[in-house]
Amino acid sequence: MTEYYKVQFENMWNKNEIKYFQNTLLEWFDLNKRDFPWRKNGISNYELILTEILLQRTKAETVSKYYNVFFNKYPDWDHLVAASIEDLEQIFKPLGLFKHRANRLFKIAQEYKSKNGVLPTNRDELNESKLSTLYISNAYELFVLNHRAALLDVNMSRLLRRFFFPKKKEDVRNDKIIQDLAQNVIDIKSCKELNWAILDYAALVCKSKNPNCIDCKLNSKCTFFSMSSLINVDDVVDDFQTKIIYDSEIPMNSNKPLKVVSLFSGCGGMDIGFEGEFIVHKDSINEILNPDFIEKKYDENFVKLRPTKFQTVFANDILPEARNAWVSYFKKKGYSSEVYRTESIVDLVKMHKDGLKVFPENVDIVTGGFPCQDFSVAGKRNGFNSHKDHNGNFIKTEIPTSETRGQLYMWLKEVVEITKPNIFIAENVKGLVNLENVKEIIQKDFSTTAGNGYIVLNPMVLHAANYGVSQSRERVIFIGIKKSALNAKALEELSKSNIIDQYNPYPKPTHAFTLKSKDLKMPVKLASIFSGLLEPDVSTDPAQMFFSRAKFMGKHCQGQTEINLEGISPTIRAEHHGNIEFRRLSLENGGKMIEEVNEKKFIERRLTPRECALIQTFPPDYDFVIPNNNGRFFISPSAAYKIIGNAVPPLLAYHIATRIEKLWSLYFNQNSNGSITKSRTKPRTIPIVTE
Ligand code: SF4
Repeated sequence: MTEYYKVQFENMWNKNEIKYFQNTLLEWFDLNKRDFPWRKNGISNYELILTEILLQRTKAETVSKYYNVFFNKYPDWDHLVAASIEDLEQIFKPLGLFKHRANRLFKIAQEYKSKNGVLPTNRDELNESKLSTLYISNAYELFVLNHRAALLDVNMSRLLRRFFFPKKKEDVRNDKIIQDLAQNVIDIKSCKELNWAILDYAALVCKSKNPNCIDCKLNSKCTFFSMSSLINVDDVVDDFQTKIIYDSEIPMNSNKPLKVVSLFSGCGGMDIGFEGEFIVHKDSINEILNPDFIEKKYDENFVKLRPTKFQTVFANDILPEARNAWVSYFKKKGYSSEVYRTESIVDLVKMHKDGLKVFPENVDIVTGGFPCQDFSVAGKRNGFNSHKDHNGNFIKTEIPTSETRGQLYMWLKEVVEITKPNIFIAENVKGLVNLENVKEIIQKDFSTTAGNGYIVLNPMVLHAANYGVSQSRERVIFIGIKKSALNAKALEELSKSNIIDQYNPYPKPTHAFTLKSKDLKMPVKLASIFSGLLEPDVSTDPAQMFFSRAKFMGKHCQGQTEINLEGISPTIRAEHHGNIEFRRLSLENGGKMIEEVNEKKFIERRLTPRECALIQTFPPDYDFVIPNNNGRFFISPSAAYKIIGNAVPPLLAYHIATRIEKLWSLYFNQNSNGSITKSRTKPRTIPIVTE
């Protein structure tokens, strides 16, 4: 045992139990050990030390996949010493904690340089060096100095606590009892192997969640197992994992063979539309023009749309509240939270180019509503010259770069270059079309994708109210189609300046808001979609109960008007700072809903998040406001307003998706109804332990 560990808890541990634990795990390890590059013979001290830094708070499988990327770039101390912090941050980005790791490694490299390459030779020198954290020091002692030391991390700590003495977890760095126990347990000749055995067993059997106690070799003497009916599992089972993914492999639903990569996904308006199978108001559907839309009647007001052939295999947005809402809804449909990434598209593309397979293979469609604040009439309209970066932070430089928010569509283009889908769809606010040349510049930029490999059709402005959305909302849609995937006839037709109806991918209107035709239905009234909604004071739906209390400020500014129940809603905006339109104004403030105010005694109030979501055609079973147990919110009402206002109306997206689905076989000589059976890849998770 090393001098570092004073035996403060002598006689506390049952030696027979420890012996049993050691023998059982070493036997198990012989047959089940995990094979990692750093466990091979002949690994240099440099690799051993650096691997332990990579392993901090990160799964071994993740580090294993990343191992070559790192050591190919930094094969020895000399390369590491020459690296800047920025270089190191860049290479660590895929692993997370990149600033922390880069900073740490940079200091270690500089120390190595200042000491002319002499490494610590004993515990005292180690304590003085930049390597001196509990875990790294122990690893250094074990692997470099060949001392008996415990690789004590959250995983080892979990297994030891469960087996020997279930108790509430503490940070292992402060938990002297667990440190002492670990040191007692690994104090045998096969110390290195036992350390690995414990780590492997904790990862594969005694997992953080759902430990496999039934098949566990230790269960006959495990304290946790013997007490499991008496223990509050939450006190014992901890989950430090924050999941992110690389190299996505998604188990595909065979009824949904077309893979969609969704960028700038927000809370998933476009994704819900592309998936289908969601609930909308029956007035929103024109059954004569779209007899195949409705799968079933849901209740007297709502219908459920049929599913499409599209499946979302990747989604991303930098807003955590958008991700939380997306995951909460899509989990109900069986989707893993791992589909959704919260890094910026710029970072994701850079990671992919650095050798990590961030984006899935065999992608059929890429969709992206790139950030619109810089083109929107509701914002300052800086367009390409936005002074916010890809993470939404203000930038100080005068010259906008390709990473500024206004040019993020170029990164959508990069994703198209990487994934090479048959079709990409980019969406933005109509305001973009009115900015000088912007539409033409973007269309031209898109058409150079993959070496002029895509036909980019003239963008089209779609008015959502013409598609059954009870809202004045216009969106410009760019559609690009891969030339090499098209059959000869489709290529010819889509290359014409006027595309005939049969080949036109833009969906036909179904409702008569800006158009007139006998086949079109009347625009959907707000009164219809709100029918059946309870007032906030009696509702049990958090998205209806909690809403903006911003006071009426006079009609001179935005968001101070009462909606018209007999008409459609104004645009549901994201940037309203609480000034979302009024569901009802008092009569003194010019309200017109006399019956509601005088007879029903309903109060003046603004639209709730639920009402905004229904206006946007989000399904009523989408949880937009989620309270937690502390009187706060997992998704707050103000976050809900923001993500709802930023979204593409799901029904508008459904029109686009079903139109493209119909044209798939006409364009590509491929059947969209299940006969496409590409090899699919499955998601790989990279949990990062946030101890
Ligand atoms: S019985 Fe269960 S809790 Fe105990 S060591 Fe085995 S897997 Fe872990």
